[in-house]
Amino acid sequence: MASTQEKLIAHVTTEEPIGCRNKVTVVGVGMVGMACAVSVLLKDLCDELALVDVMEDKLKGEAMDLQHASLFFKTSRIVADKDYSCTANSRVVVITAGARQQEGESRLNLVQRNVDIFKFIIPNVVKHSPDAVLLVVSNPVDILTYVAWKLSGFPRHRVIGSGTNLDSARFRHAMGERLRLHPSSCHGWIVGEHGDSSVAVWSGVNVAGVALQGLNPEMGADDGADGEDWKAVHRTVVDGAYEVIRLKGYTSWAIGMSVADLVESVLKNLRKVHPVSTLVQGMHGVKDEVFLSVPCVLGNGGLTDVIRLALKPSEEKQLVKSAETLWAVQKELNL
Ligand code: NAD
Repeated sequence: MASTQEKLIAHVTTEEPIGCRNKVTVVGVGMVGMACAVSVLLKDLCDELALVDVMEDKLKGEAMDLQHASLFFKTSRIVADKDYSCTANSRVVVITAGARQQEGESRLNLVQRNVDIFKFIIPNVVKHSPDAVLLVVSNPVDILTYVAWKLSGFPRHRVIGSGTNLDSARFRHAMGERLRLHPSSCHGWIVGEHGDSSVAVWSGVNVAGVALQGLNPEMGADDGADGEDWKAVHRTVVDGAYEVIRLKGYTSWAIGMSVADLVESVLKNLRKVHPVSTLVQGMHGVKDEVFLSVPCVLGNGGLTDVIRLALKPSEEKQLVKSAETLWAVQKELNL
């Protein structure tokens, strides 16, 4: 007897449907992973979303919860499994798995715990999506992006760290609060390490092309020497994550939305410039094989170009110092 489906639907084609074209995987369905997943879904960026985690019940529950919301977004398939075959043929793989910072813990402290987790994750991701762009979010993000690059064997343009994309968003929000302008009209770049030694490029801070250092040449100087303590704006960037963790236990929404912004640039081949973590050896006096954030062009080939920043000697010095700090940790890693 014909089923209700057969009675209702007359097939026109016998061919297999074309597979998905814009698949995104999120590895790790913790607070950050789920914020990334929801942000990607709400921007309608992919036709299939795959979720992976080692906690099977949580993974299944999160996947079901999202599937129940299918009516409200336009991603036709959500799959979840601890087996990486569900991630096959992803265009972008977002890696958020790992331990997170405890209250007061620095990102660098997390390193060995998360390296060991990456030794399992990365080969599995590569096996099923050999052409994917890897977007690393887990902390310490710059070191783990290097680790993902080494473990994957991918070319450097397909291994990106979310880096200071979030720090720059925080900076532009704080700048907007001071100037009572929307962050999208407040231009400023945080580069270098995501975290404690990030560098604010004060010479580039502008609104509508008006350089703020042209109005206050000491802007960003130490000890409030600019008379307005603009340095405090950068301090709120560095301290911001610690404060959110102190208040709610973790950070999630801002990193989720900033990751979706990066995923969009890749999947839609936007060639937008983002401050993300890439191999900076040979740039700005950095000698070590480290990943740090500089402004990079993102498109469907991954990270295709780097914008050459005009940094001051003091800013380059800070970048080199961050690179040395990261390299001191990296060279001890057992990969
Ligand atoms: P969380 O503890 O809520 O979630 C981590 C998830 O990873 C858990 O669900 C856990 O089961 C999973 N996991 C652990 N080992 C795994 C494995 N081998 N394979 C798959 N999944 C595994 O943590 P969170 O708050 O979501 O943070 C995740 C990471 O993101 C942390 O390292 C955190 O520091 C980092 N983070 C980065 C940024 C950034 O700007 N780059 C911002 C916020 C948080």
